[in-house]
Amino acid sequence: MGNQPWLNLYPDTIPTHIDLEHKPVHAYLTEAAERYPDKKAVHFMGKEFTYKEMHESSLKMAKYLQDIGIEKGDRVAIMLPNTPASVIAYYGILYAGAVVVQTNPLYTEREIEYQMKDSGAKAIVTLDILFPRVSAVFNSTDLKHMIISGIKDFLPFPKNLLYPFIQKKQYGMTVKVEHSGSNHLLPEILKISTPDPVEHVLDFEEDIAILQYTGGTTGHPKGVMLTHKNLIANASMCDAWLYKNKKGEETILGILPFFHVYGMTTVMILSVMQGYKMILLPKFDVDTVLKTIHKQRPTIFPGAPTIYIGILNHPELSKYDLTSVQSCISGSAPLPVEVQEKFESLTGGKLVEGYGLTESSPVTHSNFIWDQKRIKGSVGVPWPDTDSKIISMETGKPLPAGEIGEIIVKGPQVMKGYWNQPEETASILRDGWLYTGDLGYMDEEGFFYIVDRKKDMIIAGGFNIYPREIEEVMYEHPAIQEVVTVGVPDAYRGETVKIFVVLKQGQQATEKELDEFARQHLASYKVPRIYEFRQELPKTAVGKILRRKLVEEEKEKQSNQ
Ligand code: AMP
Repeated sequence: MGNQPWLNLYPDTIPTHIDLEHKPVHAYLTEAAERYPDKKAVHFMGKEFTYKEMHESSLKMAKYLQDIGIEKGDRVAIMLPNTPASVIAYYGILYAGAVVVQTNPLYTEREIEYQMKDSGAKAIVTLDILFPRVSAVFNSTDLKHMIISGIKDFLPFPKNLLYPFIQKKQYGMTVKVEHSGSNHLLPEILKISTPDPVEHVLDFEEDIAILQYTGGTTGHPKGVMLTHKNLIANASMCDAWLYKNKKGEETILGILPFFHVYGMTTVMILSVMQGYKMILLPKFDVDTVLKTIHKQRPTIFPGAPTIYIGILNHPELSKYDLTSVQSCISGSAPLPVEVQEKFESLTGGKLVEGYGLTESSPVTHSNFIWDQKRIKGSVGVPWPDTDSKIISMETGKPLPAGEIGEIIVKGPQVMKGYWNQPEETASILRDGWLYTGDLGYMDEEGFFYIVDRKKDMIIAGGFNIYPREIEEVMYEHPAIQEVVTVGVPDAYRGETVKIFVVLKQGQQATEKELDEFARQHLASYKVPRIYEFRQELPKTAVGKILRRKLVEEEKEKQSNQ
């Protein structure tokens, strides 16, 4: 590995190397079912499923997929929120020797159509209320089969009988689908299929387990090919990172969606690999999260900044006991130091920031979870077997400590490439190094700091401005719940700084007050020039603020002027 000065400072730390067993992702479910068949694998809205049950259901799913013609290497999409069906479908597809295509349930018809065509998926597993959206594009893709599951299928009695009424109220619809032709119902599959799929020999290093779509650094949606090795390596690193903070019997909160690589690796794969119990929550709703932590006492809680911020700002927070929570990793966006500290004092556990991207399965760096002296605002050090450097955007050469450049990473979690996109692959993967498109620097001790995304940097009047720096300052204002900064065209400065602000419930702050606050803490060229107050900000499924959407809205406004 490269430069690791922190190893001298923290000798008793995570291993720098992990020997991976060359087993596919689903082999860990087989192993868990053999080792502790009766241990609870999944908790879902009051009902629990053992490892034996999850294993058997996944095998039945695999056999059924093979019976309807799915072969080794075929793509099968999953478009589900976190439910037992999403776990069964995931492992079922892998047991069948096929490749999982992760599909966001919020996708529009157009987005579903694009993804199905691009991946060539032959089947899709989805939710009853999403059936109309998938049906609308079914015939214009390679899809031959739709496997449908309902939330009610996995609820305890009498919640299962009542659920259709709740669904009708929430979504304004209930959908009834027959098990015939190209439509298959998951409960029927689990009734009629047998748990004996043909076992394919898979190449640990080369065979793809999932296609995970991302805009990546160019914004154009591409399928990231993640192999069995990539995923097992990253989940094993996650386990190594946790080792000093384990309580023994871990329960992990599954609020991050499994259709996003972050939830899939750090919750689902890790949980099955270690025989933990995972609590599945189909959507992020602060009330439910608080009630669930209070009652189910999870010990591990991977999340994203907006999730932790949402909890900290809940008006009835003091009603809930969150002290079971020991280990939290926050990724996908910058974690304000303020949020980290408050969340740690609330739970008594540790919340550390990590960093990564879809193309690296996703985690590449994080802080040490047990280390009290860790460096605030840093995303930590590279994980085991992972190398990382900061290189100059001009010369491509490594930069000394403290200088800002592009972060590049290398390790067993780095993707095989983009699906059917050799040129895009070649532009981001060079000599085994992944060019992340993120700007950052490394300090003398080898800790990394993210400054911003290369393409989010604002250039105003010739100065480079990093939105994250402005946001970090504004988060310190007591009335602010969320902020995001974007560059907008400006006739004089080229670009200028615009800030979108969501105030905390019951709090007030005028533009003038915020401006005064910003001027106290930021050089004048960085001070936001335009303010917009909003009730909420657009977000991705993992709660990352959709900066790009706001930038596009701004561009559209400008072109209409
Ligand atoms: P995605 O591929 O959707 O998971 O997005 C990956 C991107 O999220 C990275 O390239 C970073 O720009 C951003 N990101 C992830 N973790 C962090 C973090 N801790 N701080 C700042 N940005 C982050």
